[in-house]
Amino acid sequence: MNPAPRILLVDERAEERALAAVVLRQQLQEIEPEEVGDAVVFAERLARGEFVAVVTEVDLSWGGGVKILETVKSLYPDRPVVFFTGAGNEAVAADAIRLGLDGLVIKGAAGYLRLAAVVRDALERVTRRQAARAGEARFRTLIDGMPVGVFAASAEGTIREASPAAARVLGAARPETLVGENLASMLAERDPGDQLLALMARGERVRNLEAPVRTSGREPAWVRINAWAVTDPARPDVRFEGSLEDITSYKRAENQLAERAAQLTRSNTDLQQFSYAISHDLQEPLHLIVRYAALLREKHGGAMDGEATRWLDHVAGSATRMQQMISDVLEYARVETRGRPFKPVVLEGVLADAVANLRAAIEESGARVRWGKLPTLQGDSAQMVQLFQNLVGNAIKFRGAAPPDVQISAVEAEEAWVFAVMDNGIGIEPDQLDRIFGLFQRLHAPHEVAGTGIGLAICKRIVERHGGQIWATSRPGEGSTFYFSLPKRTGEVPGSVRREAQGGEHGQRGAARTAHRR
Ligand code: ADP
Repeated sequence: MNPAPRILLVDERAEERALAAVVLRQQLQEIEPEEVGDAVVFAERLARGEFVAVVTEVDLSWGGGVKILETVKSLYPDRPVVFFTGAGNEAVAADAIRLGLDGLVIKGAAGYLRLAAVVRDALERVTRRQAARAGEARFRTLIDGMPVGVFAASAEGTIREASPAAARVLGAARPETLVGENLASMLAERDPGDQLLALMARGERVRNLEAPVRTSGREPAWVRINAWAVTDPARPDVRFEGSLEDITSYKRAENQLAERAAQLTRSNTDLQQFSYAISHDLQEPLHLIVRYAALLREKHGGAMDGEATRWLDHVAGSATRMQQMISDVLEYARVETRGRPFKPVVLEGVLADAVANLRAAIEESGARVRWGKLPTLQGDSAQMVQLFQNLVGNAIKFRGAAPPDVQISAVEAEEAWVFAVMDNGIGIEPDQLDRIFGLFQRLHAPHEVAGTGIGLAICKRIVERHGGQIWATSRPGEGSTFYFSLPKRTGEVPGSVRREAQGGEHGQRGAARTAHRR
């Protein structure tokens, strides 16, 4: 078992010393008072250092309590010294307190009663101080090891303390070299620096301020600064604490991404201009072919034999078809080039417009087009009309034996609305479901069902421009459902009634072209 910790009890007056020892022993059972009567013994005990506190008389023939206090504190700053004296005076007390005196008890009946409590308090204070210091040290290692730097600064941005990581982030050799520097002057650009100082001057929080750091020849570094106001009476020159994160690699990736996106946009624009120019330029010679074929037929048709006329018709027919395809390509390109800025679009209104544009086809085929509640979403309303018109138009065009029955509905998902255009038409073979969205991809020859195969490609482009996706499911012979999603952004569902557009009674197969292609 360890011996009980000792208290040195220094007094020349043996009786008073003994009495104090009795009181302490009685009331502080866990410690053992050791009486010290002269300078030699004191020096020897002091050198050995086996004590936790000193209780001393001030009035000593060999030096005095203040001297003892000074000596003890210089050797063992953490050990309490309490004056237990009959000779207290204010000047001595003031001096002693400055030197770190932990308690003062005046001898007398009340003093003997109080002594143990004062010593205990002093010991407890020391223990608390030590614990706080140990806690601080733990925090220190935590902060020193962290990849994020921390700092303390004045209201003007002058750095008062910095962690090793803060030094690393700001490109300083050691944390100490940062002390006294202004945080804003460590930044390579003026604007974020001014912003930082303005916020700090107003005592406001600095949130995620990103700025390049002044570096000497190294690769450019970036820092993210957060800072918050603090008031610490113990550090009046500190008004802000904050963190510094090295975001260089993140910034580098971000720049690369932006560069790549810009590249992509450039090559996209180039491609668009190219296809636009080509289509445009091709129209003129084609126009001439069609015109001269017609002239040839008109003026010299009589002189031609049957075969020559047929060939001429092929030339004219193919040229006309090519004209159509070229104007389709132009229309496809225009989804991007002529797209209008997004505004709230009332989709029920849009669908009503699309259906109105399809009136002839609806009446011809005896189609029924029905829809339920549709939301209002951000988008390009003309393109939304085109989208619905193409899908409903196809549903009518690719009909089966029964009159077309087309149903349009919308379902709200977490981030988007999903729309469905369902028909009872001829359906699509499963292995063709992806292909049909490609440019000029169709499952029918032009003489079977009119069209060039651009409609769904345009739908896809419109939906993608709006941030959505398009796909289809089908049962061949029974019908198809075309789905597309549109992100919500500012979607709202108007409380609308169910509407219906009913076509004429006599369905007619075939030739209804959707209006967008003409
Ligand atoms: P087009 O209508 O000019 O042929 P689209 O791009 O609109 O061009 O459609 C491509 C092909 O997808 C069509 O030729 C057709 O074979 C098929 N398709 C589109 N919609 C439907 C539908 N509702 N039912 C059956 N087949 C369809």
